[in-house]
Amino acid sequence: MPVDVDETAIASNVRVLRERTGVAVCGVVKADGYGHGAIVAARAMLAGGATWLGVADIAEGIALRNAGIDAPVLAWLHSAEPDMAAAVANGIDIGVNSASQLAAAAAVAREGRRVRVHLKVDSGLGRNGVPVAEWADVVERAAQLQDAGLIDVHGVFSHVAGASAAADLDQLAVFNTALEAAETLEAPLRHFAASSAALSLPAGRFDMVRVGIAAYGLHPDGPLDGTGGDAAEMGLRPAMRVNGTAESGVIPIGLVHGLLPVTGVPVLVDDRFVTVQSVGRASTVLSEPVSGHAVLFGDPARGEPSADAWALAADTIGYEVVTRMRAGWSS
Ligand SMILES: *Cc1c(COP(=O)(O)O)cnc(C)c1O
Repeated sequence: MPVDVDETAIASNVRVLRERTGVAVCGVVKADGYGHGAIVAARAMLAGGATWLGVADIAEGIALRNAGIDAPVLAWLHSAEPDMAAAVANGIDIGVNSASQLAAAAAVAREGRRVRVHLKVDSGLGRNGVPVAEWADVVERAAQLQDAGLIDVHGVFSHVAGASAAADLDQLAVFNTALEAAETLEAPLRHFAASSAALSLPAGRFDMVRVGIAAYGLHPDGPLDGTGGDAAEMGLRPAMRVNGTAESGVIPIGLVHGLLPVTGVPVLVDDRFVTVQSVGRASTVLSEPVSGHAVLFGDPARGEPSADAWALAADTIGYEVVTRMRAGWSS
């Protein structure tokens, strides 16, 4: 298969992250499990000890339920008219980013069935979450709805960029203030960190960390030097391997399959390295006319090139390199 996914690597990475952080892990499987396949990734995360799963939208959460996955699921990114009733029917927790989403969630509560929500504060990214200026009002409204038996505020959370240590600390301060203002809600689950802060900012771990990229085996602050060595040092194993057969220097995997248009990255053909000369529509041309089994990226601990080499060459992050590859394309 051109795109192989090693679910034991995902499970092992989650185990490593649980041990390093000492808190509960929410395995993030949005964007089709970062290209690894959402269902495969979700099962592997749970096998590794994740106790929650995180998705962007409600439809992704419902797909997990349809596959028989019954672990707690949180969906945090909603369209203009999210199907909150479907979320509730499927037992999916709703991330609330605004006063109107709070009202919409409460509106689908039924006699004896509260809607479980996690209130999200925008601690500085400016993309998603309740703005700080509106936080007190939204908290007050949530308290009323909770007292009325319509909602159950299970969590208070935020998302941190991992852009720089100083920016993360600023966001952490905003989050701590927001938590204080939300104390009356008595939400049992506070969560803030994604992969980067989970690893580098212990004060940001709270009750749970939401990990995506590190669980797939790439360093969240990557591509760094492009070797993938920093992730390997932490015991993280990349779960995705892209490989194929090179014939006279051509591998039939290209842009349509999700590769980025890079040049110069290393490719392992049998036991020697050549480099990518060009990536075309449906094939990749190598620097030498070699034939054999070619690994474009995989596990550096096995001597293979890292997805981070592609990220570095394309001036992007590992998330994009793996998410663009369609795990489904291999079947
Ligand atoms: C994508 C996402 C995550 C996971 O981020 P990583 O950096 O891949 O660990 C966590 N939380 C939210 C809200 C996200 O959107």
